[in-house]
Amino acid sequence: MNDFSHVADNIRKLQSEISAAAINAGRDPNEITLIAVTKTYPAEAVTAAIHAGVTNAGENRVQEAVPKICALANDLSLSPLRWHLIGHLQSNKARLAVANFDMIHSVDSLKLATEINRHAAAAGKLMSILIQVNISGEESKSGVDAESVEALVSGILEECDHVAIHGFMTMAPLTEPEAARPTFKGLRELRDHISQEIKHPRFTPAELSMGMSNDYRVAIEEGATMIRVGTAIFGKRG
Ligand SMILES: *Cc1c(COP(=O)(O)O)cnc(C)c1O
Repeated sequence: MNDFSHVADNIRKLQSEISAAAINAGRDPNEITLIAVTKTYPAEAVTAAIHAGVTNAGENRVQEAVPKICALANDLSLSPLRWHLIGHLQSNKARLAVANFDMIHSVDSLKLATEINRHAAAAGKLMSILIQVNISGEESKSGVDAESVEALVSGILEECDHVAIHGFMTMAPLTEPEAARPTFKGLRELRDHISQEIKHPRFTPAELSMGMSNDYRVAIEEGATMIRVGTAIFGKRG
């Protein structure tokens, strides 16, 4: 099936629900960036999303993403996207990630940050990252433990001068939306705490990347500035 005519409709619906959720929560809808999660979908699906006004896209695997990113960048009739790496990153893929993504959401160790920094320095780039935090404490989730976040942020600021930390990312347990609320609230409170403790020109933690298709409304109520939505735009992944 190569028919992505539903994408524009889904995006329009989503945009109005994002606005409604923001206004309900007393927030400005413009504070919230929609990241269309395009993993498993072909470039044609992404093109449909661009035509419907999407400006930010997310992928969770570097090898899958790079050909798509290049194909779309080569089509000069399309507005360029900002690309977000939202999945786990192995150190040996850090060079490709730095070269192709605008922001890496999944940094959860000093070792990984150091690799990213090394390649960013070589490329003469200041790499934008988020720190992925395992707020819910589920063993299956990647991300640094909440207790270790402050030390990790300090370590990165000290050792990685080609990395800028713009905020935090988390994944909530995959259950019903309301069950995600403590996780989202926890990430916001952690950010508020650490932003009091650590002041640094490369630490500007305005961004909270949290909320997916089923729970983005709750995430917006709890302060999300970036929501990562796949299924609600493109349909179920095959
Ligand atoms: C796939 C994915 C999403 C999007 O999930 P949907 O339920 O399809 O909206 C968001 N964040 C991450 C890290 C993902 O891997």
